[in-house]
Amino acid sequence: MSILKVLRQIVQDVSTAPDLNAVLSITVGRVQKAMQTEVCSVFLHNPDTDRYELCATQGLNNEAVGKVSLSVDEGIVGLVAKRAEPINLEDAFQHPAFHYIDGVGEDLFHAFLGVPIMHQRRMLGVMVVQQKEKRRFDESEEAFLVTLSAQLAGIIAHARATGAMDARVMEGAQPVARKDLRYDGVPAASGVVIGEIVVAAIPADLDSVVDKDAQNLDQEKADLASAIESVRRDIRDVAENLAGRISKDENALFDVYLRMLDDDALPSEMYAKIEQGQWAQGALREVIMEHVRTFAAMDDPYLSERSTDIKDLGKRILQHLQEDTCDRQIVYPQNAVLLADELTPAMLGLVPEGQLSGLISVTGSGNSHAAILARSMGIPTVMGAVDLPYRRLQGERVIVDGYSGRVYINPSTELIQAFSRVVIDEQIVADELKELRDSPAITKDGYRLPLWVNTGLAADVSRSLQQGAEGIGLYRTEIPFMIRDSFPSEQEQFDSYRKQLEAFAPRPVTMRTLDIGGDKALPYFPIEEENPSLGWRGIRITLDHPEIFMVQVRAMLRASEGLDNLRIMLPMVTSVSEVEEARRQIDRAYEELIEEGYAIKKPPVGVMIEVPAAVYQTRRFARLVDFISVGSNDLTQYLLAVDRNNPRVASLYASYHPAVLKALEFIVREAHKERKHVSICGEIAADPGGALILMAMGYDVLSVNANNLPKVKYAIRNVSFTRARQLLLSVRGLHDAEEIHQELRQSLKAFGLARLTRPMMPGQQA
Ligand code: PEP
Ligand code: MG
Repeated sequence: MSILKVLRQIVQDVSTAPDLNAVLSITVGRVQKAMQTEVCSVFLHNPDTDRYELCATQGLNNEAVGKVSLSVDEGIVGLVAKRAEPINLEDAFQHPAFHYIDGVGEDLFHAFLGVPIMHQRRMLGVMVVQQKEKRRFDESEEAFLVTLSAQLAGIIAHARATGAMDARVMEGAQPVARKDLRYDGVPAASGVVIGEIVVAAIPADLDSVVDKDAQNLDQEKADLASAIESVRRDIRDVAENLAGRISKDENALFDVYLRMLDDDALPSEMYAKIEQGQWAQGALREVIMEHVRTFAAMDDPYLSERSTDIKDLGKRILQHLQEDTCDRQIVYPQNAVLLADELTPAMLGLVPEGQLSGLISVTGSGNSHAAILARSMGIPTVMGAVDLPYRRLQGERVIVDGYSGRVYINPSTELIQAFSRVVIDEQIVADELKELRDSPAITKDGYRLPLWVNTGLAADVSRSLQQGAEGIGLYRTEIPFMIRDSFPSEQEQFDSYRKQLEAFAPRPVTMRTLDIGGDKALPYFPIEEENPSLGWRGIRITLDHPEIFMVQVRAMLRASEGLDNLRIMLPMVTSVSEVEEARRQIDRAYEELIEEGYAIKKPPVGVMIEVPAAVYQTRRFARLVDFISVGSNDLTQYLLAVDRNNPRVASLYASYHPAVLKALEFIVREAHKERKHVSICGEIAADPGGALILMAMGYDVLSVNANNLPKVKYAIRNVSFTRARQLLLSVRGLHDAEEIHQELRQSLKAFGLARLTRPMMPGQQA
């Protein structure tokens, strides 16, 4: 087998292993075999003891596993970790760092190759191969082990984090689950919540089925039996329909499926799991996945392919199970924290309003659209908690710290008390800020800055009005498109647009034309792309589908009749021709409606500056349109080449990067040369520090999420324009996003606005 194939096979086997021990024992076994060496061992760092512990071995004394450990300065293992480099020795005994450990059985092995296991810049441990013969492992062997270690690091980190859930500690004489298990993610919506986890299941997705205790064993078994019977029926129907059209051999495949569903085959194993306390869906997932793993590991390509068939069968049973039991009322806890593998905007409506108090997503990042909506709803959110074993967490107590991006499972009483104080302090600040509702955003020296809001969810309108918004700077029209199962008709769109326009009239409402693609998918219009952020997005899609664009624009125009407060905005434009084409279509829709007898005023049309190409053409665009609005969320992603959805690079996504700030200043200057109005609707405007420097740059309007609006207003009212200008000048001299962040925080404190910065969290240094 080629090296690449061996690598792939090992990674695949390891990634489906059920727990850390299995991950490690598969690793050492396969590596020892693949490299034809005599020993392979893994030492993992234990942060509690700060030692490297022998966690698995093939070839050394197995009894030593879990017992033997080395301090961070001990042995060649310690040196590999300290240097974060591979060490390859012909004879380890001759090395000054060699440290003899009694009882491990190392006495015989001279050749030594150790490579670090690193995950997200953290040293997880060291993987070692050894051999009796005195020889240097050759370059290809070293490359193999380094490559494998890099690929396994993420899997080991994840298995370890999951394993922490199972660990027991003694409380008095009782073994109890560990408290305050901390998982790190990306802060996505500020605030803190103490609540109970509800895992959001993806329909007919075996991987996302959670573990849950069966309440009624007989009921669970009956549900499963009936779902299996439905699948049997489906298979027989398909087989019958195809009987004349496919060969006998091919038809025999259906018999194989049916035999797998015989009571004494797969189902009996599932019933046994239910007997042990799992609910039907969990029992189904466990059994199907065990068989998928077994088949996938087979060398025979025909048999290994059968794993797909088994998974397919499991999926069909799951679909029936979910359909048959979906009408049983789900009772949500009062402080529900919704946890999903991939949190989507559509999921935000799963938990009834008033009960949804926190959000956690395993994937995604701080500027994913679900996170942006969570911010506007004021729901503390952590995204990209990649190591969180989400399937296991149904019903667990949790603390979500949306400021630092941390999640604590099974929190101790002390931690709950400490976070409760933060919750109370936040409430006090929020209550005080409410009083600003009807006051304008005006600086101490009399500079007036209009504050508008970003909307998308139905509830945003009343929330925004309650917060004193003076207009809508961005209505993300794609959000209502995402929570449906087909494109809405012109009339349906008309109804919802009319509501927004009426609620805000005479204040302006900026409606953005459909901005789908990227991380905003419509379930009924799937777009499969390698690189969706650089792909078919926003205006690119709507120009290719004038029928979708025209219907939307007609609905917007009709909805504005008699109100005259509509503004239309185009997302993701890159070239002048796109703007010209979109304007032509808007004009055409307008003329059609006038011919049809509507009395509509022609709305202002604007573009969003979201891609670097648009930044450099701001002036040209400004000549073609009535206003400019900056989408700094996307602009940051494209200027810095950092995917806004990817938690791995979340720390590199920095709206305060000097390059982003420079672009933001350039845009205002260029647009003002054409005397065009410039607003900004990216999330930077919703940060009080960001708002001050944007005001100083000359932005005419800030459009922010409803939740942050009072904070931004408070900041503006407590600072003079002159001081905001000085702040901008000092920020201009800084080289790095983190420095700029610090400068803004310090300045807010100096302005007496400390309450607008992140509160001190439990365990945090002053
Ligand atoms: C932006 O990109 O800054 C923006 C406001 O649009 P969205 O976040 O919806 O992409
Ligand atoms: Mg955008």
